[in-house]
Amino acid sequence: MTKLINIARQYCANWDAGKCIGCVFNRKDDKLSYSISSKYSGKNCFVDKGCKYFEAVVIPGIADEKTKETAKLLRK
Ligand code: SF4
Repeated sequence: MTKLINIARQYCANWDAGKCIGCVFNRKDDKLSYSISSKYSGKNCFVDKGCKYFEAVVIPGIADEKTKETAKLLRK
């Protein structure tokens, strides 16, 4: 059975050997920027406990529909 963390490992750009890089995107005044969140950077991937980045960026970017649906079903 597929686990959410395996989907994160395969699809999340923040995944780094089980740790989270912590890169987050910000939009202000129609400009997109990014920053490294000290709250998340270097922490073990917490996708099983809920991750906004996974919800907002990773899942919509999964091209394989079966994997996308599995991710939606498994998330908290
Ligand atoms: S915590 Fe979220 S953003 Fe960080 S690696 Fe895991 S799924 Fe990606």
